[in-house]
Amino acid sequence: MSDTIQNDTVVHLHYVLTDGDGKELDRSHGDEPLTYLHGHGNIVPGLEEALVGKSVGDELEVVVPPEKAYGMRTGKQQKVPRSAFSEGADLRVGMQVMSRDEQGRSFPMWIAKLQGTTVVLDANHPLAGVTLHFSVKVDGMREATGDELKHGHAHGRDGHHHHH
Ligand SMILES: [Zn+2]
Repeated sequence: MSDTIQNDTVVHLHYVLTDGDGKELDRSHGDEPLTYLHGHGNIVPGLEEALVGKSVGDELEVVVPPEKAYGMRTGKQQKVPRSAFSEGADLRVGMQVMSRDEQGRSFPMWIAKLQGTTVVLDANHPLAGVTLHFSVKVDGMREATGDELKHGHAHGRDGHHHHH
């Protein structure tokens, strides 16, 4: 295989994600890198583009505008009663829930506010409208397995864990 990142490469990444003010939003967990299948839309498009052609050991700083990350905010919110969720559900702000349109198609929304018996849902990803600053190190890569290519995502570091 090629020793640079291209479509269908499984990539192991260490990363720290901050917003424009330097506030940390997310990071890979300790020694455990993020593993993803390149070229299948599993990470935000702007970061995926920046990683093309990189090699193991490469470190890069990538600034990704909202259009190449989680999109611009559309301002769409919706109030639903708490009773629309199952009784024991542990609802938290920022949590993703699935909603349904009139045609019965499901789409993701995020809990924006909890107000007594009302839950305010937002159609925007919590990071919509945010410019993302990634500090990234390529930790490793390998060829994708046939199953990974069929599924369009990586199956863990060694390709043997199946997490569905
Ligand atoms: Zn799978």
